[in-house]
Amino acid sequence: MTAPPRILLLEDDPAIARTVAFALQREGYLVAHHLWLDHARKALEQPPLPAAAILDVGLPDGSGLDLCRWLRASGDARCARLPVLMLTARHEEIDRVLGLELGADDYVTKPFSPRELVARVRALLRRARAGALAAPAAALSVAGFEVDDVGQRVTYAGQRLDLTRLEYALLRALLAAPGRILSRDALLQAAWGSQAQAGDRTVDTHVKTLRAKLRRACPGAEPIATHRGMGYELVRTDG
Ligand code: CA
Repeated sequence: MTAPPRILLLEDDPAIARTVAFALQREGYLVAHHLWLDHARKALEQPPLPAAAILDVGLPDGSGLDLCRWLRASGDARCARLPVLMLTARHEEIDRVLGLELGADDYVTKPFSPRELVARVRALLRRARAGALAAPAAALSVAGFEVDDVGQRVTYAGQRLDLTRLEYALLRALLAAPGRILSRDALLQAAWGSQAQAGDRTVDTHVKTLRAKLRRACPGAEPIATHRGMGYELVRTDG
């Protein structure tokens, strides 16, 4: 018989942690629970690695997103590919976006049903076994773009782009969903977050300066398409 899969759970709310641990254990998983980001990180540095990690976003000593970023940037390929599911509080829309951009494989929003969470974990492990989980987002490459999420740098057509923080956030959101139209609202949310006071015009202005920089890197290229009344799309040029 093979050993049951071990799941690392990082959650500072004892009631939520108990519920999640109980639901996982009932399904035959072993659970290593940590209340602190720092403890979870130390545990991940000690082999053997767990089969997957469930990371809460809001923690007393930091954000689960930081741990996800740390994992994905790891030189150890198994760490960089460890299946990660983020737990986010409600109204943390930006956390969802960032969670997936940082290379998390899935997320659930609180409050969630333990059964739903266990189903997600099971699906995550199945995908990991099938080798279907994406390569680390730190090395994401889309149609001429190279993204370094750790250094927050983007290269296009071999040229390093000199982007403002907002241009980077807009481009990163578009790159996370190539071939999909993102509304101005979605882009506002991704770049400005929940305290967004900016209007549609602001998005347009930053897309304009972003396009100018892309054109400078690769004259004639128009990787960002405008869809009137709908939003913007990063055009897929690869298969
Ligand atoms: Ca929390």
